[in-house]
Amino acid sequence: MASLISCPHCGVRPREEFTIRGDASLTRPAADAGGDAWYEYIYLRDNPRGRHKEYWHHSSGCRRWLIVERDTVTHAVHTVCDAALAKLGGAA
Ligand SMILES: [Zn+2]
Repeated sequence: MASLISCPHCGVRPREEFTIRGDASLTRPAADAGGDAWYEYIYLRDNPRGRHKEYWHHSSGCRRWLIVERDTVTHAVHTVCDAALAKLGGAA
């Protein structure tokens, strides 16, 4: 696991200040989507090798939600952005 993560609000902080919260690449199905779509969204996860986007919570810092792109093989962190700003299409 990467030992340092650069929070866009707090700067470079130790990994222990963060909590990993799951896959950031999932798309929520429509409310009227079938049971199979909801089952897959809620219960099924890939185990990707290589670059992957994940939600991380800066639980011992600014308490912001971040999207961290990291390599699951090398644990290198490539990008970090604020999840709320990314969702709004703003700068990370
Ligand atoms: Zn922070």
